[in-house]
Amino acid sequence: MADRDYSHRNDKSDDSDGESYSPRTPRRTPMACQFCRGRKMKCDGRPICANCSRRGIACSYVPV
Ligand SMILES: [Zn+2]
Ligand SMILES: [Zn+2]
Repeated sequence: MADRDYSHRNDKSDDSDGESYSPRTPRRTPMACQFCRGRKMKCDGRPICANCSRRGIACSYVPV
């Protein structure tokens, strides 16, 4: 399954420029929960991230 994605990435040289640059959908950036976002902390993206679990608060993600 992952084989397809891998070969597709190597093809970016043939593709037109700007295709891979999409600021609207930053897929590489892991999603941060609300708490981490507000505090600009590093979120591990878990259902209950480390920062929230450590503080014992509710970890919530807002779909963009
Ligand atoms: Zn978080
Ligand atoms: Zn969290």
